[in-house]
Amino acid sequence: MTAHLLDGRALAKTIRETLKHDFAAFQSRTGATPTLAVLRIGEDEASVGYARALQKTCDGVGAGFRAVELPLSAQQAEVEEALAELNTSPLVHGIMILEPTPDHISHPALIDLLNPAKDVDGVHAINAGRLAADRPPYFVPATPAGGIRLLEQADVAFKGKEAVIVGRSDIVGKPMALLLLHRHCTVTLAHSRTVDLPGVCRRADILCLAVGRPEMVKADWVKPGAIVVDFGTTYTDAGLKGDCDQAGVAEVAGMLTPVPGGTGPVTNAILMENLLRAAERAVSA
Ligand code: NDP
Repeated sequence: MTAHLLDGRALAKTIRETLKHDFAAFQSRTGATPTLAVLRIGEDEASVGYARALQKTCDGVGAGFRAVELPLSAQQAEVEEALAELNTSPLVHGIMILEPTPDHISHPALIDLLNPAKDVDGVHAINAGRLAADRPPYFVPATPAGGIRLLEQADVAFKGKEAVIVGRSDIVGKPMALLLLHRHCTVTLAHSRTVDLPGVCRRADILCLAVGRPEMVKADWVKPGAIVVDFGTTYTDAGLKGDCDQAGVAEVAGMLTPVPGGTGPVTNAILMENLLRAAERAVSA
């Protein structure tokens, strides 16, 4: 068997094309430009690169972008002040606090202060809690929302499927488990203390990987015909690697998100959808 590859680049392009029209329509209707603010402390290379990618995504759909860059030496009170300004600014509709934050800054305290109505990556406890209870409105973290969109696009029937998610972070694994549960999958959320991880993975009709260990999951961990969603993105000397042995798993799985070109490109497109929704709610409030 050779797995059908779920093309994230093509899906992201389609979403962005639709969003271009929707952003333009919003602007002509309201006179406002939905704007994403990115709060960054220090010069971490990955977060500088991520901010640049977010700006490009915003430019591509016609969203506004505002970067708030504080020096590594900034203290908690100064960061909180900057966040408070973004929370109340009528010109800002979405806010992301980029990681890593320096050790002397409490990231959880910042998340708690984030305005839930502008929390377009769904990290505030209000949004996480509403997702857990499936009580809209809430924002879903963009990465797992993108994984679901790829599966929906491929007409995957979720009901009754055995789903295994490896990785339980608040931003990928845990919300992915909830999204699959709400779609009536039978869900197992595995992690670093899971006993017999290969055996647990082999049970899965839908296997989602959000670990960050390149090529950890081998072909013989995968049930023949299973759907594998590989969120892993690790830069190695041999290039960008997912959490599974992509070539080996493609021989066994029925569907597979490639790395690169699978879940990664969809994430920022979904984030723009969340930004537009935040702006729509702000004008109708
Ligand atoms: P975290 O480091 O926050 O979480 C990793 C999870 O993997 C933890 O729950 C951890 O378990 C688990 N884990 C670690 N080692 C093992 C192991 N040997 N066996 C089983 N489970 C293990 O990572 P993130 O969720 O933030 O990211 C996961 C991956 O997804 C990364 O590669 C990241 O780059 C990628 N990512 C991709 C995005 C995209 O756009 N596609 C966006 C965001 C992330 P425990 O909780 O027990 O420690």
